[in-house]
Amino acid sequence: MTIKLLPTVLINQIAAGEVVDRPASIVKELVENAIDAGSTRIEIQLDHGGKDGIRVSDNGYGIAPDELELAVTPHATSKISEEADLSAIASLGFRGEALASIGSISHLILKSRCSEDESGTLIEVDGGLIAGPKPVAASVGTTVEVKRLFFNTPARRKFLKSDGAETTRVRDAVQRLAASHADVSFTLKSGEKTLLEYPSASVKERILSIFGGELDGELIEINESMTGITLWGLVGKPSVARPTSRHIRVHVNGRSISDSSITHALKEAFRGLIEPKRWPTAALFLEMEPSQVDVNVHPQKSEVRFRDRDKIWRLVNNTVSGALAKEDIVPAYVPSAQTSNVIGNATQVEFGAGSSRSFSIDQARRAIAGIELPSHATPLPTILGPDAVMQVQKCFLVTQDEQGILIIDQHALHERIIFEEFSTRMAKGNLESQRMLVPDAFEADSGQIEALETHASLFEKLGIDASASGPASISVYALPTILVSRNVDGASFIRELLDKLGNSDCPSSEEEALSEVLDMMSCKAAIKAGDYLNPQELADLLQKRKEIERGSNCPHGRPTTMRLSIEELEKRFGRR
Ligand code: ADP
Ligand code: MG
Repeated sequence: MTIKLLPTVLINQIAAGEVVDRPASIVKELVENAIDAGSTRIEIQLDHGGKDGIRVSDNGYGIAPDELELAVTPHATSKISEEADLSAIASLGFRGEALASIGSISHLILKSRCSEDESGTLIEVDGGLIAGPKPVAASVGTTVEVKRLFFNTPARRKFLKSDGAETTRVRDAVQRLAASHADVSFTLKSGEKTLLEYPSASVKERILSIFGGELDGELIEINESMTGITLWGLVGKPSVARPTSRHIRVHVNGRSISDSSITHALKEAFRGLIEPKRWPTAALFLEMEPSQVDVNVHPQKSEVRFRDRDKIWRLVNNTVSGALAKEDIVPAYVPSAQTSNVIGNATQVEFGAGSSRSFSIDQARRAIAGIELPSHATPLPTILGPDAVMQVQKCFLVTQDEQGILIIDQHALHERIIFEEFSTRMAKGNLESQRMLVPDAFEADSGQIEALETHASLFEKLGIDASASGPASISVYALPTILVSRNVDGASFIRELLDKLGNSDCPSSEEEALSEVLDMMSCKAAIKAGDYLNPQELADLLQKRKEIERGSNCPHGRPTTMRLSIEELEKRFGRR
């Protein structure tokens, strides 16, 4: 085999594979160029998902006629000029390879006019061959047209999905860019159809038009700084959590990126407020000195590397947790239209606008049976004073606050209270432990014994003393005091715990494992549905509810409390 230097056109085609693999990545590069050129209005036109044509026009400052050829030449850029610039990139582009790459795998027509020029200039690149420049009539700004996409790299063309699927990806790419540039207006059209129309707006308005107007009123604003890094943006309340992470948008200095560490910090802040399988909605904007972040680590610039990743994790996590703790996130009782008058059949009642949680009507009926049903003339069994509380069916507690009637799931609430108690105590040191008079022994398999050894330090923190008392048995000598006082069976608790910890799905970090274990302990120790509570116990429970943060949801993210607002009652009784 002889080694040969590849022709330039082929080099560019290979490079193009990394930068422009489909219409969406081409649109991204072209729109980024338009944003870098200070445009306030950007229009994108697609033909058959971009396969038969992409056109991006802007009203930016344009390209000088004598620089058009450079613009389509590889490694030519106006955005950086020396090594030092690489560590302080403030523009979206900087590599100088997008236009050259696109020109090597398509027929590219670049038309531009600067404000000081009388007319425009046009240059064409067809499969890497440059023609022009020549004068042309044009308004100020730049228009790039991409035709015959991948005509000379048929293998790549085959990888494209259906027109509809490619259009969806373009749409997603445009939305990502639009989220971080609310002051720029965007239009995306496919054939004759307008798919997106975003007039220049405030960030909040822009985010709402991207995420959906139903989030109006459901977003919490955040804004926090920490030694040179600012985090601001919007975070959806737990009730608008989604089944996928698509509604998490992260931007660093105006660039949309994906970053698993930031997503993790955000998700952790919602731990216990949403179910583990669901994802928060959020648009986060991080601003920092360009030298604090390396944007030159990914061919499509969609990932970055931070100087201090841990600091950013903490900033995101603390800011979002703090904002959530301040919010009143008790879901409201909102009967959906078709069920509002049909209490009695098996339809579902929705709790919280946009929430996916629903209770069966049976549960709802049990919950409100003690309060009042519209058509009955019977008086309320008890008039509830400000501190009074009533236990319904040994399962739900009914009381009131300034805004209406509260219905509380006694198990979920107690579980949350115990979880918070555990967490507070753990933060101060190990859990208080109580020795058993007679050790509790049980038969164990090798997996359980192994888990016991691996997690010895975790057990110590939890106040659990257990060890192998033979080749196939484990003895429990001490348990956390709360579990003993709640009569939890030691042997079966430890067995279950070891199974959980020995399971390969179990989170690997000690912090996450601890959180899971505390969840489980809280569940075991909590009051169950069916437990009768005397007035003192009821009062204690409600008092504690006021003392803890996040009382609105149990550690698994299910609601502990639901509110039937006075407003809603007034509406249903025809008072408004
Ligand atoms: P990069 O954006 O990394 O510099 P590109 O290949 O995308 O590389 O673009 C090359 C150059 O062409 C840019 O540096 C810029 O000077 C110019 N350019 C490209 N698109 C536009 C545009 N829409 N408006 C003004 N100048 C542009
Ligand atoms: Mg560029």
